[in-house]
Amino acid sequence: MNLELSEEQAAVKELARDFTEREIVPHAAAWDRAESVDRAIVKKLGALGFLGLTIDEEYGGSGGDHLAYCLVTEELGRGDSSVRGIVSVSLGLVAKSIAYWGTEEQRRAWLPRLTSGDAVGCFGLTEPGTGSDAANLTTRAVRDGDDYVITGSKMFITNGTWADVVLLFARTGGAEGHRGISAFLVPTDTPGLTRREIHGKLGLRGQATAEIVLDGVRVPASAMLAPEGKGFSVAMSALAKGRMSVAAGCVGIAQACLDAAVDYAGRREQFGVPIARHQLVQELLADIAVDVDAARLLTWRVADLIDRGQPFATESSVAKLYAGEAAVRCANNALQVFGGYGYVDEFPAGKLLRDARVMTLYEGTSQIHKLLIGRALTGVSAF
Ligand code: FAD
Repeated sequence: MNLELSEEQAAVKELARDFTEREIVPHAAAWDRAESVDRAIVKKLGALGFLGLTIDEEYGGSGGDHLAYCLVTEELGRGDSSVRGIVSVSLGLVAKSIAYWGTEEQRRAWLPRLTSGDAVGCFGLTEPGTGSDAANLTTRAVRDGDDYVITGSKMFITNGTWADVVLLFARTGGAEGHRGISAFLVPTDTPGLTRREIHGKLGLRGQATAEIVLDGVRVPASAMLAPEGKGFSVAMSALAKGRMSVAAGCVGIAQACLDAAVDYAGRREQFGVPIARHQLVQELLADIAVDVDAARLLTWRVADLIDRGQPFATESSVAKLYAGEAAVRCANNALQVFGGYGYVDEFPAGKLLRDARVMTLYEGTSQIHKLLIGRALTGVSAF
């Protein structure tokens, strides 16, 4: 694996860094307090091609490889995880699934809108009663003539109240577990679909996270993505790559922690010297720096494997598990460097810690990733 960025990758990283510094960093604290990022950011992300990375240009995408995608999600995550999440879900989970599994008609209907930021996508897998155990979801889609009628509810859906389309997973037919699940592209203005924003989150406060209720939502059979019964494969293939972008977002958080903590340690004086002179503070900084490097290298390995067409699912779990836990550790260490000032939201460490905390929970909890890695090592499934 060549760790030197190509000219194109370096240019994309620079573009994302510049955008993050200008359009995100100055607003992140205010968006956090207001519990909403400025929605205008979506069109700006689309205009720069960040919502079309890895998607073919004929569908409005901006091309690029998965390392470029990691570089962009890292930079956005460094600025504000709530913004990074918009891209990881609308592009990473929804548009990329349509590009891979969709019919020509579905690609033409949705991809140009999603990649330009004219439309936002959300990913509806989790339900109130099924999170880690997603294969046992209970939302049901019943065939009625040329349509399906969908009833159920979805929980914790990122972009939920902003989205124009939900990639929705529902049970069709009688098969139990993952075999009975199909995927649908459901426009969110379809009658019977209602959304409620979830407030009071610990972190990611700027992100529109919602509960979605489906009460007799009627969609044509052509809204099904991939063949009937293949929905769980759609979900798992989306999440395998999606975990890489979450890991990249965690690298961004960890890098933001390092930058903020090093800067503060050089300016804050105690005992007559900058706290950076105290060796135990240097230990905190060194621990953050090692986590940043390790998480980034594990994440880039996944991108490299995907771009070379190699198996990557276990490596994606390794990267997500490590980077998620590392982001929490780094934010905790950064807060320690800030001392009491880390505990008030005038300084960045508190928000970084709150935003980092969800990274060990969503797109597979740390425990679930340990089980997936254990299964790959032993061939024995704990599920
Ligand atoms: P549970 O599955 O109930 O787990 C509770 C605890 O039990 C965890 O510690 C877990 O690790 C542990 N546990 C469960 N099973 C096992 C086991 N077999 N062995 C060991 N330990 C186990 N979902 C979507 O579909 N789309 C989204 O866009 C989305 N966005 C989200 C945004 C936010 C801010 C949050 C908080 C969640 C989001 N989710 C989304 C849902 C997320 O993926 C789930 O919260 C996650 O899968 C965990 O499910 P759960 O919360 O039901 O926890």
